[in-house]
Amino acid sequence: MSSTPVPIAIVGIGKIARDQHIPTIAADPNFRLAAVVTRNHPVEGVPAFATITDMATAMPEVKAISICTPPRGRLDLVREAIAAGLDIMLEKPPAATIGEAEAIAEAAAASDVVLHATWHSREAAAVEPALAWLADRTIRNVAIAWKEDVRVWHPGQEWIWESGIGVFDPGINALSVLTRLIGDTVLLETAALRFPSNRTAPIAADLTLSAGAIPIEVAFDFDQRGPQTWDIVIETDGGTLTLSAGASKMAVDGTPVPVADDPEYARLYRRFHHLVTTRTSDVDFSPFRLVADAFMLGRRETVDAFDWAS
Ligand code: NAP
Repeated sequence: MSSTPVPIAIVGIGKIARDQHIPTIAADPNFRLAAVVTRNHPVEGVPAFATITDMATAMPEVKAISICTPPRGRLDLVREAIAAGLDIMLEKPPAATIGEAEAIAEAAAASDVVLHATWHSREAAAVEPALAWLADRTIRNVAIAWKEDVRVWHPGQEWIWESGIGVFDPGINALSVLTRLIGDTVLLETAALRFPSNRTAPIAADLTLSAGAIPIEVAFDFDQRGPQTWDIVIETDGGTLTLSAGASKMAVDGTPVPVADDPEYARLYRRFHHLVTTRTSDVDFSPFRLVADAFMLGRRETVDAFDWAS
């Protein structure tokens, strides 16, 4: 814990800023929400600015920003932040393209600022216990089912249907956990992408991945009504590990294993504070590369049109 909270600004006030970032910062003694950078969504009691540069000029005491805008356009925001000397926390996915993500990493590496390209699902409570459990076992195969209702989690967000996003916005969370557990040696073998006839982003995807001899089957769906499914099942030579509820729960051979009740974003901000304090960046684009490869190799099918009211 820091005796002096780091003054931080949030850029882009939308669902995730309101659901997670604002309450998490409010509860974290390491940070103080000093400002927001917003086009249309001021936050009561917090100074608001139109641009990062305006904010940094008016409030030089702000030391860090948390970027919560949609992925497209992040490079310009990062460049502005670097010019102002602000440490940067970046919501997932890091950018809209691999080229933009690499430019972000290079710009940060050439500067003095800390860049934390976050994967909030890696902070889910069962991920580190699962990694420890897997350490002395051999993985035989992995099956991922990540199925949620876009209407619930992204109500009315048109950017989610821009090219290159769609079901991969949640799906990349599963890939971030997978790559944390297995390492960055995971490769894409095949992909089938299902595009609504009126959209340029997929509503569902089936992927076949591999990590050496380990086969990995992945099913993503953005049109799941009723109970939502965020499961990863890992068969090993020493039993079957099941991560469920977005890797916040864990079971071995069907028997629940208790894990700490430690929310993802609380852990994420603790990690950002550690990185800021130790002047270390954390940048791993391996989940994002798998998504790009799925678009490169993916076989495309057209399915029923999507509309929010259907
Ligand atoms: P959102 O509700 O659409 O909010 C995004 C905010 O960014 C907007 O309210 C707007 O705020 C700002 N913005 C700047 N340029 C924009 C543009 N061209 N189009 C739309 N908004 C723009 O999105 P979100 O769900 O919070 O997602 C933001 C990021 O967080 C995404 O990368 C997403 O993957 C990630 N995320 C989302 C969730 C979730 O459950 N929704 C969970 C984890 C992570 P201002 O008016 O303040 O500028």
